[in-house]
Amino acid sequence: MPELPEVETVIRGISSSMLGQTINKCELSLKKLRYPKTRNFKKIILSTKVISISRRAKYILINLSNNKTIIIHLGMSGRIILTSNNKNSKFKHTHMSLYFKNNLIAKFIDPRRFGCILLFDTKAISKNRLFIHLGLEPLSKQFNPNYLERSCQNKKASIKSVIMNQSIVVGIGNIYASESLFRSGINPKRKAFNITYEQCVQLVKNIKFVLNRAIKLGGSSINDYSMVDGMLGYFQNELKVYEREGKNCSKKTCNGRILRIVIAQRSTYYCSQCQKN
Ligand SMILES: [Zn+2]
Repeated sequence: MPELPEVETVIRGISSSMLGQTINKCELSLKKLRYPKTRNFKKIILSTKVISISRRAKYILINLSNNKTIIIHLGMSGRIILTSNNKNSKFKHTHMSLYFKNNLIAKFIDPRRFGCILLFDTKAISKNRLFIHLGLEPLSKQFNPNYLERSCQNKKASIKSVIMNQSIVVGIGNIYASESLFRSGINPKRKAFNITYEQCVQLVKNIKFVLNRAIKLGGSSINDYSMVDGMLGYFQNELKVYEREGKNCSKKTCNGRILRIVIAQRSTYYCSQCQKN
């Protein structure tokens, strides 16, 4: 499943080609996605220009010159492929094709159909029901140790559940939660109210580090995820605990082994020795 770094990678990949381009034509498939498509979608976006492409949580926001925004969620298996009129190859499971004046074609492909394509007024997005409950962006300045400490107060849930809670901070999926807890030496089962300020400092720092590192390396591409141009990401070579059950801890000074437990129905990996706190 594409996580925040993969979505950010897709946005960076498509932005340079799509910015400033005018939509000439749009094709939509009749297949159902997670939410019903907006009525008159094709008509509303026709002849508009892409003025910016941004991200909120794991949503891709394609902002158009008519103050509308195309919202795409990649779901479990979504991808965006850029191609051109000259080599308009057919791709299975294409749900939307945007044809631009300069011959560029952007295709949204999603075999498992957990993704979505919607159209909202740009100004009203933050108040939309999909967005109103979303917490802070993890790479924003507002997501800092003070905020995390406040968010942990009085919470009996595990620290891992708190950093994966989308109403507190968005886009920290299972891989990145496990990896940042490992780097911080924090046991994922630790109750949130027991976390110290110093641990919040470490955790915030490491969450930002792993996300930025994964973005730099183009997403981690576990489970057949591929980047916009089909290249695979390389962050998976840097995973220290995720899917490393039974292996020795990668910290030189540690003799521990990587264990797998289940927290909130998700596999959680951590070191038996250096994540005792
Ligand atoms: Zn260890």
